[in-house]
Amino acid sequence: MDIKKLSQYLEDNKLPKFRLKQILKAVYQDSVSSFLEISTLAKDLREKIDKEFNILSFKPNEIQSDKKDGSQKVLLELKDGHAIETVLMPGSIDKHWTACISSQVGCPMGCSFCATGKIGFKRNLNYEEIIDQVLFWKQYLKKNKAEDTLSNIVFMGMGEPFMNWDEVSLAIKKLLDESLFNFSARHISVSTSGVADKIKKFAREFPQLNLAVSLVFPNDEERSKNMPVNKKYDLRELAQAINYYLQTTNRKIFFEYILFDGLNDREEDVTQIARFIANIEKKHLIHINLIRYNSTDTSFRPSSRERAEDFHKNLAKLKIASTIRKSVGGDINAACGQLAAKK
Ligand code: SF4
Repeated sequence: MDIKKLSQYLEDNKLPKFRLKQILKAVYQDSVSSFLEISTLAKDLREKIDKEFNILSFKPNEIQSDKKDGSQKVLLELKDGHAIETVLMPGSIDKHWTACISSQVGCPMGCSFCATGKIGFKRNLNYEEIIDQVLFWKQYLKKNKAEDTLSNIVFMGMGEPFMNWDEVSLAIKKLLDESLFNFSARHISVSTSGVADKIKKFAREFPQLNLAVSLVFPNDEERSKNMPVNKKYDLRELAQAINYYLQTTNRKIFFEYILFDGLNDREEDVTQIARFIANIEKKHLIHINLIRYNSTDTSFRPSSRERAEDFHKNLAKLKIASTIRKSVGGDINAACGQLAAKK
């Protein structure tokens, strides 16, 4: 919703300031799907606003559901004809959900194993298009699962959030704003492929949020081959940025490590991870999330369950904390690295 435009409209129509507050509360906290539902406004005002404004800045298509794990995915058609996807995932606590949101149309980072990277970069989303994804899932839960809550937000959908920092940081401020969504900072996570200078900025601007870094390959050669970001910010620079982050925030950092069969799931890869971590000062704040690859249109294959277990055990032997993460949304191509916004 374009808050600035709405505020100007109310002012032009000589309406008192508290009307804006009433509308913001109804839209962002009570999750109304239409201005006509705002009972605190007079009927004629509701109708006028409904004619002039849309709550959402895109047109949602039909929702797809993964029958096995309950996750849902929707394709959103933006005003300029581009499309993005956003995913709703069951949280670790019953009736609490997590929204995985996109920050760009496509992605400029070109990671070889990722369906979004294959589309290339189309454009940045503006902050309104980013927060409206959260609004969409809040409205959905209100209509379909009234008892449930949207508790967590993860910036792990399409795009590299740190390559659209101005709009992403504005969106985060709106998500935290008490008069709008009022999310707690600890319930918002941002994931990066390793844009080191922005990791430092993030630490300074949002020290209470969670940070996830996609490590995926533990040596510069393989990482640069498969994740071009490494050519600009290699593992040494990444470790420096992470040291800065840990010193500034003293918060746990999560490394995402996608396991590919025979490529980065060997014993020597565990040794290389340990070598990388040796450059990080507050090792006790590191946690590695191991994710078996979700097949997309590439030649990569997922590691077997047994191999993932062995990898996890070998990390533990070196006192490196890790968890094998259960991937959700595989049946509807909504899992990590599978979002391609195909209409
Ligand atoms: S993995 Fe993330 S950063 Fe890499 S291409 Fe995909 S969306 Fe972009």
